[in-house]
Amino acid sequence: MPDSGPIKNDKGYQIQVDRDLCVTLAVCLGLAPNTFELDAEGKAVIKNPNGEDAQILLEACKGCPVNAIIFHHPNGKRIWPDPEVDLDGNPI
Ligand code: SF4
Repeated sequence: MPDSGPIKNDKGYQIQVDRDLCVTLAVCLGLAPNTFELDAEGKAVIKNPNGEDAQILLEACKGCPVNAIIFHHPNGKRIWPDPEVDLDGNPI
């Protein structure tokens, strides 16, 4: 059953939805429809961590108006929000 994560995809990128921040606007579903869906409470959950590539996942993170999607590089550093590294793992 889909949940809010954290969960890693096949390439090691980690996705998590902060359920306390998520306000059901569903922008992420529009940007990454193969990755996210809304659960019965109207909160975003991860239905398939491999549904989109990292670039699209980052667009979904940036599209969330409350920064409720937390995205980590396989090296453990944060890509979004408050980026420490870019998608290639290079320091920002
Ligand atoms: S865009 Fe953000 S607030 Fe809206 S459903 Fe997705 S995670 Fe929740």
